[in-house]
Order: sequence, then structure tokens, then C-alpha cells
Amino acid sequence: MAAPIECGANTETIENNMSLKKALSPLSLRIVAECPVTKARACDLILPHSTVSTPVFMPVGTQGTLKGITVDQLEDLGCQICLGNTYHLGMRPGPDLIEKANGLHGFMNWKRNLLTDSGGFQMVSLVELSEVTEEGVKFRSPYDCKEILLSPEKSISIQNSLGSDIMMQLDDVVSSTVTGPRVEEAMHRSVRWLDRCIAANKNRDKQNLFAIIQGGLNAELRKACLDEMTKRDVPGFAIGGLSGGEEKDDFWRMVTLSTDHLPREKPRYLMGVGYAVDLVVCVALGCDMFDCVFPTRTARFGSALVPWGTLQVKHKQYAKDFKPIDPDCQCPTCKKHSRAYLHALFKSDTAAMHHITIHNIAYQVNKTDCIYVSADPSLSNKQQMIISGKGEVR
Ligand SMILES: [Zn+2]
Repeated sequence: MAAPIECGANTETIENNMSLKKALSPLSLRIVAECPVTKARACDLILPHSTVSTPVFMPVGTQGTLKGITVDQLEDLGCQICLGNTYHLGMRPGPDLIEKANGLHGFMNWKRNLLTDSGGFQMVSLVELSEVTEEGVKFRSPYDCKEILLSPEKSISIQNSLGSDIMMQLDDVVSSTVTGPRVEEAMHRSVRWLDRCIAANKNRDKQNLFAIIQGGLNAELRKACLDEMTKRDVPGFAIGGLSGGEEKDDFWRMVTLSTDHLPREKPRYLMGVGYAVDLVVCVALGCDMFDCVFPTRTARFGSALVPWGTLQVKHKQYAKDFKPIDPDCQCPTCKKHSRAYLHALFKSDTAAMHHITIHNIAYQVNKTDCIYVSADPSLSNKQQMIISGKGEVR
């Protein structure tokens, strides 16, 4: 194995000198191993609150908590980084209150890392009466019907109050199925908004701002966006505007084009991707970080993720089935409860959703950790994957 390749300003000293870490960049990436065949890589992403081993799946905690799961449980499942939604948190309870509670970390009592989105995506997808102009995204608050403008500056100001380890730029989001001049307009605007976000960030020593590559399914536009955004010295990059109902071939082509042109020494976050097969393929295409509401959302409908697909707990066939959801799963739900119990519970109690959510989060977190099998027991699963370059799915 080649010696680990260290990137970033302060990797050598960071583990021994926490005060120095604060004085320098709030992020560094240490590439532990790279696959000789695919573009997969295993990295240590060193963030202000802890080190994240990538590839990593990040669960979504909409309003400072994951629906159906507590912060302690999330910690016990080995989650090193989770998401907070700026739109929801910015509306209620509001950035001022959260800032008083020492940011979202203090408010949630979460000691590990947090990533906050810009709020733009929620606005465009949840609020019917939203309008995008050069200034920002205008919308009517669903709480009090007041007109609100979410500008790049406003988004960063809220995220500065939340104090997340990684902040996302406000981008002009268009659905991946949209074609024509709107895609080009959104791409150029996203570049301009990135510059405004960079200028607005008051916590450069503590919070990392990620750029979001746009350009729809148009290779030329995406390449142009990559060329422009990688000129900026931001700590990391996200691949945005995908996973919105486009053909898989188009999706994978845009992902690989993006990872081909993103700097090797910075983290790559593929937004909104969480289906098992997509995780496996996109790790091989060189992505490091993923998020998706699917595992927690689907749990609330009684759907448990298993290696052979999904298991519908409320289905009649499980009424007398005393096996756990997945006999090979080590999560607290599978260790303690049977399908029959969850089936009965689902009819009368929201606790069933809670148990399934725990299982689904464990499944996703472990998915990026042990989907590969290799021979050398002295290495972690992720390192083995990279060395073997086989990517054999268990
Ligand atoms: Zn389980």
C-alpha cells in the first residue's frame, strides 16, 4: 500500500494540536487509499468537530433532530456527520434562538459534525409561490404569509448563526429534467451566487463553504461550471441538480464528468443520492459524501431497507414471523425485535417507525462502510475496498 497522501494545510499537526487547527483551515482531507481500477477512494475528512471516514452517508435531521431518532441513538449508530435543513431551522425556531444556544450543535446537543444546506432547494420544492431573481429566491412564509427573500447573503448569515461545520452555497436549482436556456441561466447564476456566498461568510476559520456544481444534464454547461467554480478556493465541492428523475445513464455520465474535473485534494459531495445501488456506483465514480431523506422517510411508511431490497413490516406475511428485519444486521432494532412485534406495533404505535428508522439509518451508514469484501483483515473495510479495487457487493 502506498503511503497515505495528505492534502490540506495542516494535516500533519492537526491530530496533536487542536489550537493550531482552529487557526488554519477548518477542513483537511487525507486520502488513505485509492482504487487502482475505479475512481473510488477512502479518506479521512478532518472537520472541526471530529474526523469523518469517507465514503460516508449523512442522514438528514430536518429540524435539529432526525424524525423518530434521538441524538444519542444517532451517535451510537456511528454517525459522524448529519444534515440540518436551513429552510426549516431558519423559519422555526429561527437563527437568533439557535445562535443563543451556541449554534445548532448546542441546540441539538450534538457533538459531532453538521452540514447545513442553503435553504434554496426546500424553498423551490416546498413553497409553491417562490420566484427566483438575481437578488435571490422570493417566497411567502407558510407560517405567517410574509414575503421573504432568501439571498446568498441571507442564506450564509443563517448558516453562520447555525454554526455548521459545512455550509452549502445558495444555488439556482432547476430540475434535472428541465432543458433549454433556463439551465444555462441557472448555472451562471449559481457561479455568481457562489462569489456572493464566499464574500458573506463571516466564519471562514470555523465553517467550510462548499460550492455546488450545476449545469443539468448538459455536459458542456457542467464542464463550464466546473471550470469556473474550481477557480475559487473553496474547501469542498458538491455535485448538484441530479437525482431528479433523469435516466440513470445521464445521471452517471454527469457524476463521472464532475469527478473527472474536481480537484483530487478536496471532498466531493453528491447531493440527494441514497439508494444502495447509486451509492455503490457513485463511490466507484469518485464521490465521497452522500445524503438522502429516503431511508428515514421510507421508514415512516413501514419500509425497512434490507440487502435484498425492502421489507414492508405491515405486510400480513410478517404477522407471525419471529426473525429480525435482517438476521445479519447488528442494529439495536434487529438485536431486540422481531418482524412480528414490529408488525403488531406498527398498527397502534409510532414506536414502530422509530425502530425501523434506527434500522434504516444503520443500514445506510454501514452501506458505505462495508459493501465491499476483501482479504486483508488488518485494513478497514474501506481501505480493503480501495486496495482490492474489486467492489464486490455483499
Ligand atoms: Zn437492523
